[in-house]
Amino acid sequence: MVKIGGSLLKSGESYLSVAEKIREKFIEQGSRVVTVVSAMNGVTDDLIRSLAGSGSALGRVVEKYTTAAEYLGRRRLKDRVEDELRKLKLALEVGHVHDPALRDLVLSFGEKLSKILLVEALHHAGVMAVGLDATEIIKTDATHGNALIKYRETSVRLRNYVVPLLEEGAIPVIEGFIGSTSGGDVTTLGRGGSDYTAAAVAALLRALEVHIITDVPGIMSADPRYVKSARVVPEMSYREAIEASLYGCKRLHPRTFHPLTLVHECRVYVGSWRESTLITRVSSRCCRGPKLVTFKLKGRYAYVALVGDGVSEHGLVSKVVDLLKYAGLQYDGIYAFMSRPSIVLMFEEQVLGRALNTLHDLVVEG
Ligand code: ASP
Ligand code: MG
Repeated sequence: MVKIGGSLLKSGESYLSVAEKIREKFIEQGSRVVTVVSAMNGVTDDLIRSLAGSGSALGRVVEKYTTAAEYLGRRRLKDRVEDELRKLKLALEVGHVHDPALRDLVLSFGEKLSKILLVEALHHAGVMAVGLDATEIIKTDATHGNALIKYRETSVRLRNYVVPLLEEGAIPVIEGFIGSTSGGDVTTLGRGGSDYTAAAVAALLRALEVHIITDVPGIMSADPRYVKSARVVPEMSYREAIEASLYGCKRLHPRTFHPLTLVHECRVYVGSWRESTLITRVSSRCCRGPKLVTFKLKGRYAYVALVGDGVSEHGLVSKVVDLLKYAGLQYDGIYAFMSRPSIVLMFEEQVLGRALNTLHDLVVEG
């Protein structure tokens, strides 16, 4: 299973280079691949702005997809893209802005158009790709804007639509982030939801691996904007990844791990084409202890979390306390629950940089 993030999809050229990479990295290595694709870079944000009435945001979406379609060539492709864009404009004209079902319908065009372009690019790269419609396969509840995937219904559809294609040696391509209710209304899975689609499809098809590919090399040991010595964490567990995403690490949709824990576990690689973090149910090679430091801002406080299996054990908590005292760093609270892989410290926002660097360099690396 390969999921292509929107950050990689900036132009017609980038669709082609993604297609070539999928061929080289997976197909030529003999893997059977299902591809899940996000909207082009910035498109979901612009669709949200169009819903709020911004004509220039809509203009950017139209421009991005038409230019990419022109680049990838063929009249038929351009006609198809224009046809979808017409439907998008119509949805924006007729609906009421506050109607959550309409909102999901509008947002779904970002992924729909992106899929059409990726299928075309894969054909250019000599890959037998077939585009599938996520709204026919990914069945969800009716929570518009934050829908839950229904595994049983989705599984039946995957068996009917996707498995036969894989058996013929084709590469199914499906939109991330979108699905539909039992009544057929389009739903979306929450921002960043294509990771969740990829994980659900992988789990239901009993895949071995999920590759979530973006332009960032992996999950970092700290935010590199604050901590110069931050590096990619080589390996972590599902639990640690969920904890990190709850405390502000923005790399993954937190629900990504639901299907992997409930249905079937796979190895999840999160990163760029070159480098990634491997996430497994239990991190094998090493190692309990702190893997990364992340934070969330709330009011004038920063909640800084040290994440790693076993960090809430008493020995480490008291070491952290001593260390902060030694470094002269004031904190206003500390939370550690035995059942969770994190220690959370509350700092005044102005010391955030120093707190992150100290905890990273002395606890995560130390
Ligand atoms: N395009 C959607 C978003 O930006 C879904 C995704 O990228 O995963 O939130
Ligand atoms: Mg996106």
